[in-house]
Amino acid sequence: MSKKYNVVTSISYPKEGAMGKTGSWRVFKPIFSKDKCVKCLRCWIFCPEGAVKKNKDGSVSIDMDYCKGCGICANVCNVKAIIMEREEQQ
Ligand code: SF4
Ligand code: SF4
Repeated sequence: MSKKYNVVTSISYPKEGAMGKTGSWRVFKPIFSKDKCVKCLRCWIFCPEGAVKKNKDGSVSIDMDYCKGCGICANVCNVKAIIMEREEQQ
């Protein structure tokens, strides 16, 4: 006999904090290759900042205003559709 559960999820979204947009903290930035992406959404699941956005067509995009450049998305991407590159010095 199967039992039904009520599943409650919570989704958070990046928002400007007291110190401004967190994207300004970045040392490395993710470079996304749409042609390599297989739309598995691992980067979307694992990004700790909620900076990976899921688009209506199943593809992803990165909100650079809030991406901190941690590199987790690049690490979890099995097809290397995201690589990390050093931000240019200002
Ligand atoms: S983890 Fe890689 S392949 Fe999967 S959605 Fe993200 S960029 Fe695309
Ligand atoms: S580098 Fe980190 S913060 Fe930026 S999109 Fe990837 S997982 Fe998210």
